[in-house]
Amino acid sequence: MAIAAASKKHSASASATSTPYTRFQTTLSAVVERLKLSQAERAFLTEPQAIREAQLSITRDDGSQASFPAFRVQFNNARGPYKGGIRYHPAADREEVKALAALMALKTAVVNIPFGGGKGGIQLNPRELSRHELEEVSRAYVRAFKEYLGPDIDCPAPDVNTTPEIMAWMRDEFEKQTNSYSPAMITGKPMSYGGSLGRDTATARGGFFILEELIDRAALDPTELKVAVQGFGNAGGTMAHFLHNVGFTVVALSDSQGGIYGPDGIDPVRIEKYKRKTGAVAGEYCEGSVCDIQRMKMDGVEHITNEELLELPCDILIPAALDNVITAENAQKVQAQYILELANGPTTPEADIILEKKGVQVIPDILANAGGVTVSYFEWVQGRSGEQWTADRVDTELKRIMLDAYKAVRREAYRTKVSYRHAAFSVGLKRIVDAMRARGWVS
Ligand code: GLU
Repeated sequence: MAIAAASKKHSASASATSTPYTRFQTTLSAVVERLKLSQAERAFLTEPQAIREAQLSITRDDGSQASFPAFRVQFNNARGPYKGGIRYHPAADREEVKALAALMALKTAVVNIPFGGGKGGIQLNPRELSRHELEEVSRAYVRAFKEYLGPDIDCPAPDVNTTPEIMAWMRDEFEKQTNSYSPAMITGKPMSYGGSLGRDTATARGGFFILEELIDRAALDPTELKVAVQGFGNAGGTMAHFLHNVGFTVVALSDSQGGIYGPDGIDPVRIEKYKRKTGAVAGEYCEGSVCDIQRMKMDGVEHITNEELLELPCDILIPAALDNVITAENAQKVQAQYILELANGPTTPEADIILEKKGVQVIPDILANAGGVTVSYFEWVQGRSGEQWTADRVDTELKRIMLDAYKAVRREAYRTKVSYRHAAFSVGLKRIVDAMRARGWVS
């Protein structure tokens, strides 16, 4: 229920006609215009190469039948097999999955790994399904799309609400269905079944490397910087730990139910303990909306909503949950100097313009959160070669790739005097177009 409520709130704050895909197209059009691409090149970049849809039917634990809409969008494979996660969410529809697939094509190009872009989704609320039902629907997904998946064709991975365990069910189902050994057909698997060291922390790790470099170049001291993180899942939770460990002051944390703000800093280790125990970031102080105000006062913290988190006094804001949260309505109120997008699509194009005018530096999703797909690439390489990389090797290679991508984007931004988002789109689009030209798809 919490997920459904959160997604409603997000769409209510979006402008009436915009969808995740139209928001993507707004940025795309501006960049494509500047790059002076041909009609044929534009056509390839504005619509996906394929949209696969299915209705997945399962028998629920009580014997009743249930059916869920499922999608796999294959946006572009000029640079290699389609690559991108599968999300389980009530708002996962055709438009959202299309936008996310397009962002994946750009993301793999920005970090220059040999993949195209795709994305999947099943429209469901995972909290309303038992573990067994989740397994059934995950296996049904693979059966529905098996002819379009494979290590050389299209390689899924985790995304919002999908886990290594789900990736394992999917690999197992694929291998059964195709009578093959295919460790590289999917990434983000558990270590016991073809996973890579460092994949679980990769999204945050990649973003952290960029933030470190950014701070270093700006000659800032982490111990003097305050950070607010929206989302306490794989990306946000891990990032909060990394930041805390090197001395940043984490002033706010949240999950889908809201969060807490402590101007003098909060300890993510402690929050994690309570989140595990109570299921909520604010669980140490609040039961639902009823909070122990005395205790909060004593600890110097207060309860906040997800919307309030975005407007708090801080130096760095890290949206690490859902899309469409920084909009024309609240962008003016953002107080942070830097925004590092660990979520996909958290900022609308209208908000981008406001933030740019305010001088807020946004490190866009297709760069900031590309660490996940980069270590997925390492996992894919290991799956194909039978090698196992050490944690050190993963970390070193990830850092090299993230910093190369960051430098390429920074150079483009300075050279053409555009925002980092437009620069990242340019870097990615140029690489995709170069591959399409090399293949003779466009001349
Ligand atoms: N879901 C992640 C993303 O949005 C990872 C995708 C992957 O590893 O293929 O980048």
